[in-house]
Amino acid sequence: MISANARAVFHSEGPFKLTEIERRDLQPHDVLIEIKYAGICHSDIHSARGEWGPVQYPFVPGHEIAGIVTRVGSEVTKYAVGDRVGVGCMVDSCGECVHCHRGEEQYCLNGMTGTYGSVDRYGQYTQGGYSTCIVVTEDFVVKIPDGLELDVAAPLLCAGITTYSPLRHWGAAPGKKIAVVGLGGLGHMAVKIAHAMGAEVTILSQTLKKKEDGLQLGADHYYATSDPETFKKLAGSFDLILNTVSAKIDMNAYLSLLAVDGTLVNVGAPSEPLPVQVFSLIPQRRSFAGSSIGGIRETQEMLDFCAEHNITPEIEVISAKLIDEAWERVLASDVRYRFVIDISTMMNE
Ligand code: NAP
Ligand code: ZN
Repeated sequence: MISANARAVFHSEGPFKLTEIERRDLQPHDVLIEIKYAGICHSDIHSARGEWGPVQYPFVPGHEIAGIVTRVGSEVTKYAVGDRVGVGCMVDSCGECVHCHRGEEQYCLNGMTGTYGSVDRYGQYTQGGYSTCIVVTEDFVVKIPDGLELDVAAPLLCAGITTYSPLRHWGAAPGKKIAVVGLGGLGHMAVKIAHAMGAEVTILSQTLKKKEDGLQLGADHYYATSDPETFKKLAGSFDLILNTVSAKIDMNAYLSLLAVDGTLVNVGAPSEPLPVQVFSLIPQRRSFAGSSIGGIRETQEMLDFCAEHNITPEIEVISAKLIDEAWERVLASDVRYRFVIDISTMMNE
């Protein structure tokens, strides 16, 4: 076994404590990655607090991982020692079902293995990237293009791909009117990526506090959802709405903003149900959809797209001892726009 230092919660309410975890010995197709940076995703919080179902403690979150390959298994062909690499939300899948064959491992019919909170094919409970190293099979590792620094590459591994994938799938392009609901980690990436794809982008945020930032990120319009006038003014106007909000919001109000044949894609994942009236959908042939991260091939495509278009997240790099405070700020919608843990500070008290 390979030992790693990590920050874990031992209870649903935290706090984080320094601990040691074990990574498996390298199998022939495994790579050992020294983690340099790990992004903080709101999913880390939902998961660690048991909002999506029971988890095992100690629990090490983190699925936005950027680092350097330090060792490779005997049959590894894709990576070499020294390569700059990333790992996102998945570390394995069956590799045999129709979706794995299509490169959509996130929809694996036998269930993909999450980077944390899953039991892997070796029977080990997976622990995430708030740690000094990780062992991952080469097929679930992506290459970070030279043009991207590791700290800004980290959030792309979840926030980037989770927004890129539905924008591609539902055809973000010139002439398309797209709204992004919630300007947090995912939301701000959605704005940058949709803008780079040529769409007309509107931000729907709770308040106008981040308006200047939002327009700077590439949005064409910005509205506050706390103002009832917003819903009157924008009724029936969008081809696509990407909801990135981590809490329950009134779906029927947002569906009313879709044009005929428009789609509202929910990537935000609150644990509460989001009730939908059928008459929010029927008269305009609207769709209400969901989307999960993106496949490995598409994740590589997204990284290359971001490098080519000079798209990077706005980040606040923090020391490992400040994770609890960063989580509180994420929960208070006080993030501009992704916290990234500098893993070299792991041992600092
Ligand atoms: P985040 O940084 O906390 O952003 C969420 C944003 O939603 C906030 O910044 C805020 O934006 C808005 N918001 C929060 N609470 C709200 C409320 N009560 N009412 C209205 N708006 C509210 O979170 P994130 O990391 O981007 O993740 C967002 C969600 O996506 C989480 O639920 C996460 O689990 C989920 N997720 C899903 C996938 C997937 O594969 N589908 C992948 C990753 C994450 P404003 O201040 O602008 O209003
Ligand atoms: Zn995430």
